[in-house]
Amino acid sequence: MAHFPYQEILEVIMQHETIIVHRHMRPDPDALGSQGGLVEILKASFPDKKILKAGGPVGDLAFLTTMDTVLDEDYQGALVIVTDTANRPRISDERYGQGAKLIKIDHHPNDDAYGDLLLVNIEASSCSEIIADFYLANQDQLTLSDEAARLLYAGIVGDTGRFLYPATTAHTMQIAAMLMGYDFVPTEVNNQMNVISKRVAQLTGYVLQNIAVSASGVAKVMLTKEIMEQFGVTDTETSSIVSIPGTIEGILVWGIFVEQPEGYFRCRLRSKGPVINEIAKLHHGGGHPLASGANAKDEKEISQIVAELTELAQLWGNKEK
Ligand code: AMP
Repeated sequence: MAHFPYQEILEVIMQHETIIVHRHMRPDPDALGSQGGLVEILKASFPDKKILKAGGPVGDLAFLTTMDTVLDEDYQGALVIVTDTANRPRISDERYGQGAKLIKIDHHPNDDAYGDLLLVNIEASSCSEIIADFYLANQDQLTLSDEAARLLYAGIVGDTGRFLYPATTAHTMQIAAMLMGYDFVPTEVNNQMNVISKRVAQLTGYVLQNIAVSASGVAKVMLTKEIMEQFGVTDTETSSIVSIPGTIEGILVWGIFVEQPEGYFRCRLRSKGPVINEIAKLHHGGGHPLASGANAKDEKEISQIVAELTELAQLWGNKEK
């Protein structure tokens, strides 16, 4: 069993009066669940400390949590904790380095091992699961509030695709069961995360009709600026359609390529078997073995990525035969 520094982190927390918790840009439910869940645990456990959430706008996830106003002077002598963020450039609010001490808590591969103290568990389904583990390891000194439980549950549901993805373990289910014992309505959280706007519903129809699938099971969806404008959908809202190709028979690996206002493409890559994060790393990205992100400067680079994914899928197909 790996040793994780749950006690050490609690000791460092106890030594600081101000604790500022950051997460990654373009937050998803696990970013906000782990950040907000940790903040709620710390507020309930240490009412005299100043505990703040830092980061950019949360978009349509405000039903989960919103950010605090964090002043530059708040960072003086503060402990900064960053959740769910593998690499420094993706941390939302670049003042994260201005505190007295920095802790990284994450479940992505530890390619950028930043921070004075690191709690990285790549086996965990979500960063929210790690925060729950941190609580359980220190339960005699920490309090888990109902709001913390709601946020951590939301983060786990979000990152496991409602307990569908392979990172969902028996332990994940035990943590979810423990959280469901608190006073919040899980169905309400699930429904809130499940709702899509009419615009996104229409884009879903477009995606299903325009998905290109190769013989090796690699699917490609192009969302150009024109298409995004036609459906009135923002980049953030594309998170609702990322998992759709995985539900279609014969699709093994897929990429959704979203053109950005600056002209480059955000590549949202997913797989049901072949490990794709090494390909993402070759294109200014990274992420999990089966869920990665990258950036392509133009359509030529997208073709390159699709070719690399195809090679992987073919190798996988040969192995399976
Ligand atoms: P996304 O498609 O944006 O939901 O990303 C899937 C996964 O890839 C997430 O776990 C992200 O942390 C990771 N990821 C996305 N974009 C990048 C990037 N530019 N660099 C490193 N990792 C990324």
